[in-house]
Order: sequence, then C-alpha cells, then structure tokens
Amino acid sequence: MRTVGIDLGGTNIYSVVLDGDTVVGRAKRKTPGKGGRDRVVEALLDAAHEAAASAGLDIGQLDAVGVGSPGVVIDGTVGGGANVPGFDERFDLGGLLRDPLGRPVRIANDVTAGAVGEHRLGGGRGVDDLLCVFAGTGVGGGLILRGRPFEGSHGGAGELGHLIVRQGGEVCPCGRRGCVEAYAGRRAMELAAERGRAAGTPTLLFDVMADKGKPRATSGVFRTAFESGDRVVADLLEEAAQVLAAGIASAVNLLDLERVVLGGGLADQLGAPFRRWVDAALQPLLFLQPPRIELVAAELGDEGGAIGAALLAREVA
Ligand SMILES: [Zn+2]
Repeated sequence: MRTVGIDLGGTNIYSVVLDGDTVVGRAKRKTPGKGGRDRVVEALLDAAHEAAASAGLDIGQLDAVGVGSPGVVIDGTVGGGANVPGFDERFDLGGLLRDPLGRPVRIANDVTAGAVGEHRLGGGRGVDDLLCVFAGTGVGGGLILRGRPFEGSHGGAGELGHLIVRQGGEVCPCGRRGCVEAYAGRRAMELAAERGRAAGTPTLLFDVMADKGKPRATSGVFRTAFESGDRVVADLLEEAAQVLAAGIASAVNLLDLERVVLGGGLADQLGAPFRRWVDAALQPLLFLQPPRIELVAAELGDEGGAIGAALLAREVA
C-alpha cells in the first residue's frame, strides 16, 4: 500500500510517500504565515501533490492521505491549533481535503502522528506501551497504549508539556503556571534568556542568533551557544532536563510504560549528552525500583510526523 503523510507545523510542512516501510517520495515547504486557513489548505494540497510527484506518481495512484495537524482533532475536524493561521476555530479539515484530492483522508493530531511513526518505524519499535516526548518550540507528548495511539475522551491526551511540575511557577505559553513547557520549551527558554539579559546577565544566545541570521533562537542556536560554553544557556538546558525528567517520571509512574522516546528539534540537536541529563534526573523519580524504563532517542527526525500520518492513512485506505 502507498500512502501520503503530511505533517503541518507552525513553520514547515513536511510530506512523504510511504510504500511499505520505505519513504519513496518527499517534499518540504513553508507554512503560510498569513492568508488564513484557505492558504494553509492550499499548501497542504500542494504538499500532497509534490510528494507524490517526487515518487514519480500521481495522487490518484495513492491509496490514502494522512495529515498530522496541530490542535485537537475530532472526527476529521480541527480546533485549538494556535500556531497555524485559522486553525484555532474548529473546522472540517478532512472535508476540505477529501474532494480536491479524490482520496480517503485521515486527520490526526501532529504529535500523535509523530508517536505512531516512532512506534512503528523509529525508536519505539517493538514495545506496546510507549510515551514519545518532542521538545522543540514547545513540548509535545504522544502516547501509545497496548499498541494503539491513545487520544483520550476528547482528543486531548498526552499533553506532557502541560503536566504541572512547579505549582505557581513560571508562566507557560498556555497561560497556566509551572507546566513542563514553561521551562523546557525553546520559546520559554528564549524568553527567560531575554529577561536575564534585561537584568544584566550576559549570554551569547543573542549573538549566535544574529550571526546565524535567525529571528528566533532555534534549536541550532541553542546548541551553538551551549557548545561555546555559555553559562546561561547551560543553566537553562539543565533546568529543562530536570523538568522534562519530572514530567516523564510523572507519566511513567501513572501508566507504567515500557519505553520513552525523546525527540523534537531541541533534543535532536543536543543529542546524547542532553538525553543523559534527562535520564540521570529521571531514574531516582521513578516509583518502580529498580527502574524498568528505557529512555531512547527518536529516530525519524523532522519527517517522523509525516511518516506517522502516512501510517495512520492506511486505516482509511
Ligand atoms: Zn502549559
């Protein structure tokens, strides 16, 4: 079976054609920053066609299309997707794609799709109870329980980034206080570095950002500043690791999982040293001793969500 998977992110749209376990076509484009929902839907259609063409195929030769979208997905509709124009108010994304594509369409939450990808073809292969944590601009979490993605009663399960680890702590982008993402999300860490700079604590972070010509502190900017020995960035990353460990331990203590996959832009860039920090902080927080949980790296990188969406599309083909 051949399916297309598309991962809609706040910055980029990745699309792949999956044939069996192999990616045979791929495309990448920018997510439209303005123009509203219609422009985004158009970009998704283009992404599907472009991936198909790169595999030497027409969209009609593919069995189904899967899309991983930010926000809460219910029966093909999407709402609450704050990072993409027009995706905050609920609408029928599946319906808007099905007719022009002429193929069955499956919509899933982007993080759930990422977790499905890692479970079937990445770092989560071979286990039935899995948590995937993606640390990037924000912190996402996806659960696989008994071999199936678990989305909860209202599509909102797995929000590891909003487990509260410090009651009354820092303000999270979600508006609450003390969430994992308030410390381990790249956006929150950049804001903390800005506050430090305003208070007179020097950091290389903003010089590296300027050198690389980036408007934001990307994961690569954090890595370069860290490797240059910047103390502020090292402290922020160490705190992020501690807080991620607390969130992961809470989830594992609740669900008795077999494995945790850690990925996302920031974790991918920082690699094994960062994962070791998280693991070292995690082990003493686990209720079951000796610990039986493995913390491993995500393996699919930026295409994981698109691969997962292509796998989920098989269910509607
Ligand atoms: Zn939050």
